[in-house]
Amino acid sequence: MDATVVVGDDCKVENFASIYRGVTIGNRVFVGPHVCFTNDTYPRAVSPDWKVLPTKVENGASIGANATILCGLTIGRNAMVAAGAVVTKDVPPHALVAGVPAKIIGWVCECGRPLDAKFRCAHDGKSYPELSSKRNPRSRSRK
Ligand SMILES: [Zn+2]
Repeated sequence: MDATVVVGDDCKVENFASIYRGVTIGNRVFVGPHVCFTNDTYPRAVSPDWKVLPTKVENGASIGANATILCGLTIGRNAMVAAGAVVTKDVPPHALVAGVPAKIIGWVCECGRPLDAKFRCAHDGKSYPELSSKRNPRSRSRK
């Protein structure tokens, strides 16, 4: 962990996570093993005018093993970043993102489990009507 990194209360930061200057992590955030935050959009060995580009992880978010988070982004409250994802854009609250570059593939509950097509959690019954304006990949019919 670099100087000036801020990590909130009740976080879990696993082995070999690289958290560089400019990163602010909220409360109850999970940072999986080998997660890499970056802090330079135009990396060169020598950059005389380099400035830190801040990155924020909001309360309750989780970042899976080996994910890479580019700088200047916000990972929203209770969002879930899949293992191995490369995050290049802001992640909205409760979004589940995966892939390279990371895309929204669903939405998750505060408990981390996926929400159904009606933005309801089958595990604890919580529902998130405020998300209903979002496109939900799970609402497409599957065969
Ligand atoms: Zn739940």
